[in-house]
This record gives sequence, C-alpha cells and structure tokens, in this order.
Amino acid sequence: VGAVQVLAVDIGGTKLAAGVVDAAGTIVSSDRGPTPTQGGAEALFDAVVAVAESALRRTARDGAGAVAPIAVGVGCGGPMEPGGEAVSPLNIAVWRHFPLRARLAAQLDLPTFVDNDAKALARAEGWLGAAAGARDYIGMVVSTGVGGGIVVDGRLLEGASGNAGHIGHVVVEPDGRPCACGGRGCLEAEASGPSIEAAFGVAPADAPEPVRARTGTLVGRAVASLVSALDIRLAAVAGSVALGFGTPFFEAANAEVRLRCGLSYTEGAVIVPAVLGDRGPLIGAAAVAFAGLPSP
Ligand SMILES: [Zn+2]
Repeated sequence: VGAVQVLAVDIGGTKLAAGVVDAAGTIVSSDRGPTPTQGGAEALFDAVVAVAESALRRTARDGAGAVAPIAVGVGCGGPMEPGGEAVSPLNIAVWRHFPLRARLAAQLDLPTFVDNDAKALARAEGWLGAAAGARDYIGMVVSTGVGGGIVVDGRLLEGASGNAGHIGHVVVEPDGRPCACGGRGCLEAEASGPSIEAAFGVAPADAPEPVRARTGTLVGRAVASLVSALDIRLAAVAGSVALGFGTPFFEAANAEVRLRCGLSYTEGAVIVPAVLGDRGPLIGAAAVAFAGLPSP
C-alpha cells in the first residue's frame, strides 16, 4: 500500500518544504529552504519549484524503493480561492491572486491539489496524529497566525469558498485588539505570536506563565464555541506558540472548555497537543493530494 507516492509541498511565510510521501504517510525524502524575501511573485514560485525538484532528486538518488509520484499536494497560507486557483496568503505579500495550482501543475506535469495549510495539517492529525480515527474533530494551529480545519462526520468542511475553519476569527474578547479582518478581539488578534508580542512586549518564547495560561484560556474559549455549535469533542492543537507554551497553555485551555461545555453532548470535550511536529505539514500536504485523487 505504501508504493503509491505523491509530492507534498508546504509553503509558509518563513520556509518552504517539499517531500515525497507514500500512501502510508511515510516521508520518503524531503528538502526545505527559506521563503525568499527579495524578488516578486515569480522569484517565490521559482523557489517553490526548486525545493520541490530537489526533493524529487533526493528520492531518485537515495530513496529506497522510490517510484514516480502520481500527484502533487500543497499546503499554503490562506485565504485562497477554492482549490488554490488563486492564493493570497496573508503572510506572503508578493502573492496576491497568484494562480498557484495551475502554475505548479504545468511546471511539474502532475495532477495538483492545493489547500489551506491549516486544513492540510488538520487532515494530517486526523490521518496519523492526535486525532487519528476521530470522525469529528478540530485541527488547529496557533503560531504566527491562528488557523484550523474542522472535520465533521469524517469530512473536512470546505464552506462556500473553501475557507471553512478560519478559527482565528472567532471572537474571544469582545473589546479586544483590532484584527486584520476588521473585527476586534479575534483569537488571532489575541493569541498569535505577533499579537502576544505586541500586547505584552515579549516574544512568545520568553512569555511568562500568566501569558501562556491566558493564551490557552482564549484558545479554549474559541474551541468551546465550536464544540457546542458543531457537536465535536476533540481539538488537536499544533503550532510553535501552543506547543512552546506547553502544559500551562493546555491546562488553561482545558479548564476553559470544561467551564463552558456542560451540555450532555459537549461534556468531556478535550484539547490535546498535536503530535506530528515537523512532519505534520508535509503529511498534511500529501493528504491533500490523496484526497484529491480519485479513490482506487
Ligand atoms: Zn479577525
């Protein structure tokens, strides 16, 4: 079952990664590099292609049992038009309405599937991670931004424009900090790394325990609303802020969920750390490809 392989690509604001991943979710080979900060849209696209081709060459050179990938899966920052036909990642200023899917498909000559990176990570955690086997769960990232993917009845929610799961814009402080979306007190405006730095004058890595716990409380508040609205009892949280904050964050997040989830169907909801770590984004991008391909 592991013989079928896809090329997985993760496009982030600070780094690019690509890897060949098999149908069991094993990363056969990979490469990564920084996201270029100089040059325009084409310079970034060239860098994406370079890291993808490097990963393919590594597989051909030293991947045991390497076969040619049959598709490409991509995780990229949102927002985007459905299927990644035009991507405008908030944290990648040079791409606005960039036709990522069609350009990569033409360049690599393979069926190509693109999705939001947080939705891709939710797929990964549901496939092989902290939500493995769950039919109803939230996969979240609390990092430079706050995003997520929501799986209900075993299906990842897409929404009208493919952007379902933007948990970062659930309001957690009604009179809180202004948000890029035009609102105030969104989870992203309160709990992302840059928001924490702006609010408390301290980098997340150096944040004191009360800040760590407060961030957990706010994430728990947002999750509690989704638990009630969507009949979900599990949230797996990834991202450098959440995982870096560790125990104080997760204890506060779960305390808040317990406080707010007392209905018969919401009781017992839990927030757990994601477990795939650095492998998550590429496994998620591979899951996007496998989900896009016709079922065998
Ligand atoms: Zn917002």
